[in-house]
Amino acid sequence: MLRTLFRIVRTGVVSEPAPPPAQALRQREALQQDILRIMGRALCIRHVDAGSCNGCELEIHALNNPRYNIEGLGIKFVASPRHADMLLVTGPVSVHMEVALKRTYEATADPKLVIAIGDCGADGGVFGECYASRGRIANVIPVDVVVPGCPPTPTAILQGIITAITARVGD
Ligand code: SF4
Repeated sequence: MLRTLFRIVRTGVVSEPAPPPAQALRQREALQQDILRIMGRALCIRHVDAGSCNGCELEIHALNNPRYNIEGLGIKFVASPRHADMLLVTGPVSVHMEVALKRTYEATADPKLVIAIGDCGADGGVFGECYASRGRIANVIPVDVVVPGCPPTPTAILQGIITAITARVGD
């Protein structure tokens, strides 16, 4: 027992120091303050996949993981547009989703913000406009903010969300 204690004292602390917080996490803290200042309450989002390859969905799902923890920021995803302040729309708009997207937009509560996610949402991306695709989201419903990228990072999506709130609600 004494030998073990002596060895512990002789060795000291050998673990590496904890790494500093990542830049993305620091940005996250600033976003949290902005959402509370501008909205004064939780922001409810309805996600609509209008024809995505699901790459953008993976980045949106990452917003819910412990690293980004958007519920801790006061943002939550809801199941109905009637409970949502904002639509997060991915993909080009496939012809089969055109009517559903328009109805979802009409059902969304005020301030009825819309963010087009990814290069496909911005300009149709690799799918473009064709017999099966209406192309960019803005071809079908009004869009407040476009977040480009294929796919965009979770931090870029968060910044798009705060930009949309700031632009519509005012600073
Ligand atoms: S922007 Fe890229 S990742 Fe997102 S739906 Fe289009 S092809 Fe997929």
